Amino acid sequence: LSGRMTGVFDRLRTRGALSEADVAEAMREVRLAMLDSDVALPVVKDFINRVRERAIGAEVLESISPGQAVAKIVNDALVEALGGAGAVPLNLNAAAPIPILMVGLQGSGKTTTAGKLGLRLGGRERRRVLLASLDTQRPAAQLQLAQLAQRAGVASLPIVAGQTPVQIAQRAMETGRREGYDIVILDTAGRLSIDEALMEEVRQIRAVTNPAETLLVVDAMTGQDAVNTARAFNEAVGVTGIVMTRMDGDARGGAALSMRHITGAPIKLTGSGEKLDALEDFHPERVAGRILGLGDLAGLVEKASDTLDAEESEKLALKMLRGKFDLDDYAAQIKQINKMGSISGILDMLPGMGQMKSQLAGKDLDTSVLKRHTAIISSMTKSERRTPDIIKASRKKRIAAGSGATVQEVNRLLKQFDDMSTMMKRINKLGAKGLMRQGLG
Ligand code: GDP
Ligand code: MG
Repeated sequence: LSGRMTGVFDRLRTRGALSEADVAEAMREVRLAMLDSDVALPVVKDFINRVRERAIGAEVLESISPGQAVAKIVNDALVEALGGAGAVPLNLNAAAPIPILMVGLQGSGKTTTAGKLGLRLGGRERRRVLLASLDTQRPAAQLQLAQLAQRAGVASLPIVAGQTPVQIAQRAMETGRREGYDIVILDTAGRLSIDEALMEEVRQIRAVTNPAETLLVVDAMTGQDAVNTARAFNEAVGVTGIVMTRMDGDARGGAALSMRHITGAPIKLTGSGEKLDALEDFHPERVAGRILGLGDLAGLVEKASDTLDAEESEKLALKMLRGKFDLDDYAAQIKQINKMGSISGILDMLPGMGQMKSQLAGKDLDTSVLKRHTAIISSMTKSERRTPDIIKASRKKRIAAGSGATVQEVNRLLKQFDDMSTMMKRINKLGAKGLMRQGLG
């Protein structure tokens, strides 16, 4: 499907300005992509109407093709509809102990997410976290949470038999106050489907705990049903944020758009696996790309074209994606990075980059180093820049002398270049091939 969609954008590329017919054709494909990603039909219609209006009036800059212009308009509108750029953080503006309530259907990932939040808030953010299971439906549920808490290195509320969920909630808050916890995460029982008894129980728990966040946990794989779940929970108990789990699966994430549209509540977090560290902030930009099946390449092109002409940036992006670039490209890239911000900013725009970014964390290039690198590269010969492997000891000495650098600096540059080549190769493996076919190839 995304291939077909890009086909339309490619055809647009060869024409002049955007006509109403061009836009209509592109919108048909966007519509299919969205439906394919499980966005609910009324939401798709509403979105398409708004985007069509914007696109038809739009001016197409000389430096970008009409196809890129439409892709950018669609992408921008989708990011906006998903909540705008960046992630919405958890609201922890409340007096300690801050209650966070997890709600949702059975099996959606509430308990797992409670454990993940314990790890994140207790570990990375060093808060004192208490996990409490209010799930009296399944005998093993409270034990499951206690084990997760242990693995996350945070406390869990001692299990007392015979209490109702509301009584457990009260005891959790009392314990939180008495023992000086910063955050109390309350994990509730789910039902296989929405029912009034479940909603009433959640309402009572809310009333006695007054949570700073009521997080609705929804399985991204449930697609269209996610919308009904979100609507029902929001109407019955009020939802302040949504967590989409199982984003590690095939789901393209269209439910995010529908749920946001219907509840107005931001998607705050996504789960991407069963492990406790598989919890990410929700980034509208990434999910927009996933929904359209294009990656956020349009955004990459856009940002680049602010500072570089579109052709040069496309060439560079293509080389980056193919993992085939030499020190000349590295120098060109340094120039681009200087204009665009950081390399992690660029990585943000490529799909599937979360992991790569965390591997790079702390290794981001600072610009003064980049300037030195430019100088060092300019004292290399053409063949050295093309085939860095030939740069052995004596060449290093000459290059260092020529650029006023030390041999260690030359080594660091070569190492940096090497790391980047490896990274690009990995990006390539991760699916850049698809990207190239779609957007650039
Ligand atoms: P609950 O009934 O809502 O509390 O759901 P659980 O937290 O017990 O999760 C149900 C199942 O889904 C468990 O096997 C979890 O390991 C799994 N699970 C939860 N979140 C994710 C996720 O983000 N990705 C994947 N692949 N599995 C998940
Ligand atoms: Mg559970």
